[in-house]
Amino acid sequence: MTKDEEVPDWVGAQEFYEKYESKEILGRGVSSVVRRCINKRTSQEYAVKIIDITPSDKVTPQEMEEIREATAKEIDILKKVCGQHNIIQLKDCYESKAFFFLVFDLMKRGELFDYLTEKVTLSEKETRNIMRPLLEVVEYLHHQNIVHRDLKPENILLDDDMKIKLTDFGFAVQVQPGQRLKEVCGTPGYLAPEIIQCSMDGGHKGYGTAVDIWSSGVIMYTLLAGSPPFWHRKQMLMLRMILSGSYDFSLPEWEDRSDTVKDLISRMLVVDPKLRYTATDVLNHSFFSQYVVNEVRQFTPYRRFKVICMTVLATMRIYCNYRRAKPVTKEVIMSDPYAVKPIRKLIDACAFKIYGHWVKKGQTQNRAALFENTPKAILLSMAAEAEEPVQHIW
Ligand code: ADP
Ligand code: MG
Repeated sequence: MTKDEEVPDWVGAQEFYEKYESKEILGRGVSSVVRRCINKRTSQEYAVKIIDITPSDKVTPQEMEEIREATAKEIDILKKVCGQHNIIQLKDCYESKAFFFLVFDLMKRGELFDYLTEKVTLSEKETRNIMRPLLEVVEYLHHQNIVHRDLKPENILLDDDMKIKLTDFGFAVQVQPGQRLKEVCGTPGYLAPEIIQCSMDGGHKGYGTAVDIWSSGVIMYTLLAGSPPFWHRKQMLMLRMILSGSYDFSLPEWEDRSDTVKDLISRMLVVDPKLRYTATDVLNHSFFSQYVVNEVRQFTPYRRFKVICMTVLATMRIYCNYRRAKPVTKEVIMSDPYAVKPIRKLIDACAFKIYGHWVKKGQTQNRAALFENTPKAILLSMAAEAEEPVQHIW
């Protein structure tokens, strides 16, 4: 619909409210609110993203026009990607002068972000079950030269069967083959180094689809470790860490993780986008290889002998480890409780139970502060963020 066409203010809104009944708020964005809604005729539940495009004290008419244009682009992309089963489906769309109403399937289990806050960390198996469909979506988008530019756990929704749906195509853009992007947008902790470089250097050659692989690497690291790879209370220092690709696997959470998964993450979090894995490379990595047992094999005498040898070796190893293990005494628990793994997990889980509500989107990644596990560190982090609010859009 063009700007000049005379549309009465209420037409789109009236059509929406005739067909749907709007219910409680499910989530909020920069200029949108998402509510549960019910189709009055079928009683089917949906989620409606209501985007406010009325100028107000805080937002200038020009900014409003930009939001209108961005929303029109978001709708355009959502229509293009319709049909991919791990992308949220746009069911209905209404536009009035003051509002857009985008109706989507309702994802009852909400965001991956909240699921992770509840679970603290995920197993490699669960991470694989989330990352594989996510990378398939990214591969599908990149084949069409679409860059999402805002991949993060808040924009990954879960349905009743724990299947993921990617949402929020507000920053997504379709580029011409070979075209480079320069616009600086996204969420700080997930920004690829080349996006930050663009903001610092006007002559930078720009970035492309590889930025989504960087963000996927950040998500994968966060799911397994519970805290993000790049984080500092001061946003400038965090951006510096991203620019130099300074992260490590030194957290105790990484002790139990396979070398395969660490290898994959280290090929996604590569500062030079040309050397970074593509979505197809990621999906072909051995972390995603499936081991399907098709038949129960007969045990030959040789196999039986091999199994007996392996069992004896495993028993000896368990026995030796048992002999070497230090007994967990009251003194050990009191002097260094964090060194005892079950207690460490318990402390992390308690910290999330107590402070989990405070880990919230839009602010920088407070999740990391919870892993510092001292009230002082958490308070310092809160104070630093109060001083230095983080921008979602630059
Ligand atoms: P924004 O562009 O403003 O970030 P999003 O599309 O990401 O808007 O939606 C904001 C939040 O609303 C999401 O992070 C999520 O919590 C909730 N939400 C969005 N779509 C749905 C949906 N289909 N089902 C359930 N919750 C949703
Ligand atoms: Mg969002």
